[in-house]
Amino acid sequence: MEANKIHHIILRPKKEESLKRFHPWVFSGAIAKMPQGIQEGEIVKVFSADNEFLGVGHYQIGSISVRILSFSDETIDANFYIRRISEAYKMRMEMGLLRDDNNTFRLIHGEGDHLPGLIVDMYGKTAVVQAHSVGMNADKYKIVEALQHVLGKDKLENIFYKSEGTLPFKAGIETGDGYLLGGQNIDFVTLENGLKFNIDWLRGQKTGFFVDQRENRNLLEKYAEGKTVLNMFCYTGGFSVYALRGGAKSVHSVDSSSKAVSLTDENVKLNFADEPRHTSFSEDAFKFLKESSSDIYDLVILDPPAFAKHRGAVNNALQGYKRLNLAAFEKIKSGGILFTFSCSQVINKEQFRLVVFSAAAISGRKVRILHQLTQPADHPINIYHPEGEYLKGLVLYVE
Ligand code: SAH
Repeated sequence: MEANKIHHIILRPKKEESLKRFHPWVFSGAIAKMPQGIQEGEIVKVFSADNEFLGVGHYQIGSISVRILSFSDETIDANFYIRRISEAYKMRMEMGLLRDDNNTFRLIHGEGDHLPGLIVDMYGKTAVVQAHSVGMNADKYKIVEALQHVLGKDKLENIFYKSEGTLPFKAGIETGDGYLLGGQNIDFVTLENGLKFNIDWLRGQKTGFFVDQRENRNLLEKYAEGKTVLNMFCYTGGFSVYALRGGAKSVHSVDSSSKAVSLTDENVKLNFADEPRHTSFSEDAFKFLKESSSDIYDLVILDPPAFAKHRGAVNNALQGYKRLNLAAFEKIKSGGILFTFSCSQVINKEQFRLVVFSAAAISGRKVRILHQLTQPADHPINIYHPEGEYLKGLVLYVE
């Protein structure tokens, strides 16, 4: 019965090409005929102008009208989510991300796991679920059922749903945030590569932690011995804790949010009790760099928030990255190492490298690229959806 109610969207001639190449977005301009009475968040089927089935997905008002969930004509029910989530879980197990010393990983990464609009991060036995589309919000109970089925009681005790304020939700759409499973006796402390982190998914940014920097933090640890480290935009202090374990001489953590600074302090304490090598500052990054002298830091991390959240903001964002990296080049010691990142999806790695190049050139320092970094395997990039590549990093040796 359900199948009869599914609305059909017909594309304009020749607009099926990208879907045939498995790109999962249907742009509003590609649509010839929109059925009457269609509601945001509904499951719809998409057909070519020649009436050929192309895919089934979530409909939403906006420039991306449909996010394709499957290129086969299948029913989108709890079983569909069970199939997708088991596949994603199996991949994470092959990556070796669930171990005695590591239980923090991303289970579902949107398009990268063929589930556009859905993010699931695992913190021990808690899954934090975030919907980025109206359709995923509408399907949240199917997702909860599927997560329970795939992970079972021994691996999953709590599901926290957190979608309020997530783009592109508009006013008036109820997200119903909160625990959809469990919620009692929660262990907020999780492990990443043997280090403890207290994750505040209730009040923290995104799902509470930036899981995507795990491997880059690991690399930083290897460079930390004996260094004076500046961790700029520290948030929960991930890079700081790794630097301390790596034997840094001292670590300064900076974030403009005092809440972030206290999360960092808490995580340092959780791993090292009273650590005299660590100091944190609640300050603006640009101001902090401007006021610090140029002979202190030999290892600097710049991991700012996305300066550009949409295409219109790209130019300003590029200027922002240039200014920030210039300030770091002006302050880092000779023979210093700079870890510099951009997580803006609308800025590609060539653009990022070019602005870092410009900043280096203005500073007049000699700079070599030691590593080119990206997002880890639990944030996979669907090859047909290059937009999924968002995290870019460079490790630079500054003479
Ligand atoms: N490096 C972190 C993630 C950084 S998220 C990690 O590994 O987990 C970006 C952080 O930048 C946020 O905590 C935000 O509070 C902070 N921030 C934003 N603007 C800032 C500014 N102008 N100066 C300092 N910190 C800023």
